[in-house]
This record gives sequence, C-alpha cells and structure tokens, in this order.
Amino acid sequence: MVRTTEVHKHFGALHVLRGVSLTVARGEVVAVLGPSGSGKSTLLRCLNHLETIERGHIEIAGKTLARADATGVARYPSESEVRRICQHTGMVFQHFNLFPHLTVLQNLIEAPMTVRRRPRAEVVPLAEALLAQVGLADKRDAWPGRLSGGQKQRVAIARALAMQPDILLFDEPTSALDPELTAEVLRTMRQLAEQRMTMLVVTHEMAFAREVAHRVVFMDQGRIVEDRPATEFFAAPRHERARAFLASLA
Ligand code: ATP
Ligand code: MG
Repeated sequence: MVRTTEVHKHFGALHVLRGVSLTVARGEVVAVLGPSGSGKSTLLRCLNHLETIERGHIEIAGKTLARADATGVARYPSESEVRRICQHTGMVFQHFNLFPHLTVLQNLIEAPMTVRRRPRAEVVPLAEALLAQVGLADKRDAWPGRLSGGQKQRVAIARALAMQPDILLFDEPTSALDPELTAEVLRTMRQLAEQRMTMLVVTHEMAFAREVAHRVVFMDQGRIVEDRPATEFFAAPRHERARAFLASLA
C-alpha cells in the first residue's frame, strides 16, 4: 500500500529525512514513534504530497508518486497525476482542521463533491453512514464550534473516510485531547483497524501502539532506527534511543 525507498528531505540546510525506507502492507496498522523533531510529521506529509522530497522513491497504492532516477533524484509526475495518487490517502491532523463555516455534514461532503465530482445524492448517504459509524449521526447538522474535541476529531476521521481512501495517515490525532476524549477517538481508530483499514499513525499513545498497531517504526534524527512487530518492540526495544524514549514515558 505504501512503499518508500531511501527518501531524503531537506528544509534549507536542515536534513530532516535521511534515507527513509518503509513498507506498509494492505490492512496493516503501523505506529510511528520517536522523539520530537525526528521527522515523523514530515514523513507523513511527504506521503500525502504536502511536502516534496528531493531524493528517493514513493509508491502509494501501487502508483508511483515520486520516482528515483538513476542518480536517486526524485521525479514527480504531472500535477493531475499527483492529485489522483493523493486521493488514495486521507490525513487526520492533531488540530482537526474542520471547516468552521460548514456544518458537520457539509464538512464530509465538500471534498467528495468538488474533488471527486460525485453527485450529492450519492455522497450524502455515505456521509451519514460514516457519521453513524463514528457515533455522531445526531451531529449531522451541528457546527464544528459546538462539538467537543473528541467529536471534532471523529468528524475529521469521517471526513477523511468520505473520500474513500485506501490509506489513512494520522498525525498525533489525540494529543490535543483530554484522556476521556482520547478514549473515544482511539475506539474509532480501533474499529477502523478491525475493518482492515491500512493506517500509518504517528502517536504518543503507547496503549494504542501496543494494542492496535501491528508494527512499530521508531524514528530518530530523520532515520528509521527500529521497524519491528509491536509486541517485540515493546517487549525489548533494541535501539538505545527507543529504550530511552519508552523509559521517558513510563
Ligand atoms: P514532533 O514530535 O515534535 O511533532 P516530528 O518528529 O513530527 O516532531 P517534524 O515536524 O517532522 O518532526 O520536524 C522535523 C524537523 O524538521 C524539525 O527540526 C522541524 O523543526 C523541521 N521542520 C518541519 N517542518 C518544517 C518547515 N516547514 N520548514 C522548516 N523546518 C521544518
Ligand atoms: Mg510531528
């Protein structure tokens, strides 16, 4: 579903991704852990084309988003092709990023109608089904400003799903939430995992990583320093930075 090979990304002089190679299979849930500044958000943003890479290769749902040429330099296809490829991924952000001037339902149907050009009559029932799935059928006509943080995040997840992506990317979806609200968002994410949604989740929620993720990818200074089944990782992290990271959370 996702394959990156030797991905490099700079911000000016800052070398933020230093050769990231990662594979995520269909239906797999991968937790991305690591200290602040290690490049976790940047990696997700490169997969969704919110950032471009300079070197390396990125495949999304079997399509090539960035092709490494013979010297390793990343080449992108046309803008329209990039847009098509990015429709395979949906992203959920820490701060929800709902459209405040649209109701909950409108938030869900906006992109499917404008980007995918689906008729309203087709999109509305799908949106309603997704709201029911995240437990918010009764908030259909509410304004985002009236929702709790947990409800906002569940709307954001439903909105991402409304585009019918193959892969969901989460960047610290619960770190702006109180523990109580975190639990309801994690419940929704767990349900998605049970439905075999492919998920790449940057998180500080060790319980989620431990219980839901199949694999843990641990990043440090722009590199993946561990990539192992979650049970193995938590039983005995190998890398010194990973051990220190887990100890700091304990
Ligand atoms: P955190 O856990 O704090 O969210 P992270 O692992 O997500 O950290 P990134 O946000 O990917 O880290 O940032 C990696 C490095 O890139 C940091 O040094 C950050 O300051 C830098 N960086 C990120 N985005 C930009 C940008 N748009 N311009 C310049 N530097 C950036
Ligand atoms: Mg981040």
